[in-house]
Amino acid sequence: MMDSTEQALTALAKTSFTTYWLDSLDPVADEPALQQDTSCDLLVIGGGFCGLWTAIQAREQDPEREVVLIEAKSVANGASGRPAAIMSTSVMHGIDNTERIFPDDVAELERLGRENMDGFQATVERYAIDCDIEWGGEMKVSIGDDGLDTVEEDYQLYLKYGHDAVKLDQAGVQAEIKSPIFHGGTWSRKRSGTVHPGKLVRGLKQAALKLGVKLYENTPHLSNHKTGDSITVQTPRATIKAYKVLLATNAWAAGHRHISRRVAAIRDRIIVTEPLSEAQMKQVGWQHRQGIYDTRTQLNYMRLTADNRILFGGRLDYFYGNDTDPALDKTPQPFIRLVQSFYRTFPQLAAEIKFSHAWSGPIGLTTRMAVHYQKYHDGDMVFAGGYSGFGVTASRFGARVGLAILDQADIAETRMQFARTVPDYIPPEPFRWIGAKITMYALDTLDEKGGWRKLWVTMVQKMGFPITL
Ligand SMILES: Cc1cc2nc3c(=O)[nH]c(=O)nc-3n(C[C@H](O)[C@H](O)[C@H](O)COP(=O)(O)OP(=O)(O)OC[C@H]3O[C@@H](n4cnc5c(N)ncnc54)[C@H](O)[C@@H]3O)c2cc1C
Repeated sequence: MMDSTEQALTALAKTSFTTYWLDSLDPVADEPALQQDTSCDLLVIGGGFCGLWTAIQAREQDPEREVVLIEAKSVANGASGRPAAIMSTSVMHGIDNTERIFPDDVAELERLGRENMDGFQATVERYAIDCDIEWGGEMKVSIGDDGLDTVEEDYQLYLKYGHDAVKLDQAGVQAEIKSPIFHGGTWSRKRSGTVHPGKLVRGLKQAALKLGVKLYENTPHLSNHKTGDSITVQTPRATIKAYKVLLATNAWAAGHRHISRRVAAIRDRIIVTEPLSEAQMKQVGWQHRQGIYDTRTQLNYMRLTADNRILFGGRLDYFYGNDTDPALDKTPQPFIRLVQSFYRTFPQLAAEIKFSHAWSGPIGLTTRMAVHYQKYHDGDMVFAGGYSGFGVTASRFGARVGLAILDQADIAETRMQFARTVPDYIPPEPFRWIGAKITMYALDTLDEKGGWRKLWVTMVQKMGFPITL
């Protein structure tokens, strides 16, 4: 009889350590790299969701505006090609996080979140982007009884702010999804669900090109300086002169001396099963196909793909110096604990399930866990990022407000606290690495061992990080 580590290694034996989302699509040629000096009104740096939404909205707002977007590698190289892609109505990493960071603005931020999702849906329809959207809603579950209070708090917030939400007891959750460890949940049923992020990001790229955005891949930003009223950006073969620059480099910004004071590059891991058979689907239920996550910081989240694979994620890690692509994550070992969590969640599938893909992706983490803005060069260069674990749809909102800040537009959003203030400092190396490692270890072992771990977690909470056990 195999132990669960051996069983996990067997289930990972034929796994591809690449993102399923891009692997499941036909390869496409990159746009050419920039070869000649150029100039533009707006330069967007970074070809993930945030950069693409910035470029699209800039051209939609003003078709005369010359917009250039440069991406260091290929579009979707970063988090945007690798998420679980559970779509949330929230633009501030969940309704509970909104209440935590901006308690006076919850109603307005929730309204903006609803408006954002409507705008998101309208854009997807306008450009006929086929991206497997399923409006199954988002569901938060309690593992055992420990998270029931959090679930209740979320439910009350949902009611207060007008969500179409239901609260589920253990039997109610089991009727939705069969897992012996889910003891309760709350399900917000509208304006959220799941999407194929690879198809979405490619569709947005096509939309940007159609709108006249000049897009260059394999064109990294190397340096920038301001002369007079324009910013000159150096790339390997050419320079770009721009009046405004929107920096949408997410976790990579943690490599920047100033930005990194408030942004850390964390890794999060995902595994994807082979497609489930009809019999296996019956064993898990899940007929409403919600995006699901639990209440803990070392949480697990899960969803179905269009061809009925289970995507299962959530083993945060940190690598020294904000490494955004550690080689370690291309081997089975770092995924073993995630597979073991999968077995605990779906024991009925454990005996036969195999994982087709496993990968990790960079998260731009801040103490707020939501988008913020850092201004450079007298406000003509703005960094927009730090979406942490919820940026697939929030990045459309983040990009829209980022543009308004860059344009110094006096709109209600730019006057709100989230747009005017920045998150707390995160200590530099080596304290960042040491702190992250101790925190991850404490979270993993707190239940069995207790002791100093509780004190440590309380201290990290006091630094501003929303750690939930
Ligand atoms: C494992 C995982 C699971 C997630 N699950 C969810 C989820 O279920 N729901 C959800 O809403 N969100 C989720 N997220 C978060 C979401 O994916 C991100 O918030 C979102 O994709 C961020 O988009 P972005 O454009 O800011 O960053 P990115 O997509 O990371 O884009 C940044 C881009 O900048 C480029 N770049 C870096 N340096 C340079 C340079 N010098 N010059 C030019 N370009 C450069 C990079 O190559 C990259 O393409 C998840 C993320 C991960 C990693």
